[in-house]
Amino acid sequence: MNVLRSIDDIRSQVRQWRQAGLRVGVVPTMGALHKGHLSLVEAALLGCDRVVATIFVNPLQFGPADDFRIYPRDEATDARKLDEKGCHALFAPSEAEMFPDGITALKDFKTVVHVSQLTEGLCGAFRPGHFDGVTTIVAKLFGIVQPDAAYFGEKDYQQLLVIRRMCRDLNIPVEVVPVPTVRESDGLAMSSRNQYLSPEERHIAPLLYQTLRGVAERLTAGDDKLDSTLSNARRALLDAGFTKVDYITAADVETLEPLESLKRLKSGARVFAAAWLGQTRLIDNVPAT
Ligand code: AMP
Repeated sequence: MNVLRSIDDIRSQVRQWRQAGLRVGVVPTMGALHKGHLSLVEAALLGCDRVVATIFVNPLQFGPADDFRIYPRDEATDARKLDEKGCHALFAPSEAEMFPDGITALKDFKTVVHVSQLTEGLCGAFRPGHFDGVTTIVAKLFGIVQPDAAYFGEKDYQQLLVIRRMCRDLNIPVEVVPVPTVRESDGLAMSSRNQYLSPEERHIAPLLYQTLRGVAERLTAGDDKLDSTLSNARRALLDAGFTKVDYITAADVETLEPLESLKRLKSGARVFAAAWLGQTRLIDNVPAT
């Protein structure tokens, strides 16, 4: 696998492939790769002739109190895993390559991509500026790599919809392909941040998925007391040892508007949650139809 660090190098590699008529897929990541990331690479290998993974811990999407400095970084291991999967290239730029003006804070940027509405609820309500950081860096990556398709995990379902909307509204010719969440055997969604969990927290963590499943099952069975189902679920998480629940809510699969009535279930709903175990914030979501 080719490891490329400069924008010129990845551009000319992809240009060469596309001139040869090959379809190119990109898998954007922040590294610390696990089986969830690798399932995106697998999906990309199935749908494309050439696959580029990117690793860049994007400072724009972290808030001041977030874990940017301690975010796990192990490029050598990541590169080995990608190579073993059959990934064709890794684009791993330095911060200076991505931000030649030395600006790494969104507030100082001259150009920011902002998707409205979809970014207002769920994680957007608790992480101000986070999605602007995501869309701005993904727009840059798409401009740099110029892929035909890009693969994103349903684990970050809101992010997936926001990026799809960005491409649609800005006529960015990249097909955004969703990939199902990969879980540990006890149901916990794989995440680079799971490394932060203490053994005790790791023991409690799968309850997030179980609770979401419980809410989804009640909804599909025709539960008409959504408010009390959700507040019971919140209470169950706190009672089990979650330190804070940012949200647990059922929302429309396309608009992410909160579901107030069962009628909307017909058009598709998912149950979403973000909850803290000590210093670690976990997110997850499951379909409810
Ligand atoms: P990250 O490195 O956390 O920015 O994630 C990079 C990509 O991997 C995003 O599209 C995520 O949604 C996706 N991803 C992360 N965890 C999982 C998982 N457990 N299953 C599937 N995709 C995942």
